[in-house]
Amino acid sequence: MKALLPVLLLSLVSITAIWAKGGLPINDLCPVDGKAGRVIYRVFSDKGTIIFCCATCMDSYQQNPGHYTIKPKTEK
Ligand SMILES: [Zn+2]
Repeated sequence: MKALLPVLLLSLVSITAIWAKGGLPINDLCPVDGKAGRVIYRVFSDKGTIIFCCATCMDSYQQNPGHYTIKPKTEK
């Protein structure tokens, strides 16, 4: 019983983390071609949610994530 608790706690934390990430994209513009990003095209990375302008850009990024620079959102 004691061993089960940390496992439950850990899965709860990761679910919360995914949820929080999902709502907050870190960028405004598509990192592939600089167009306006759309929330439906998104990738979850260790940096957070990254949004893209289209599925093609999303695929390009996923094939070579290190190649693109994510420009973080500017605070308004
Ligand atoms: Zn794009």
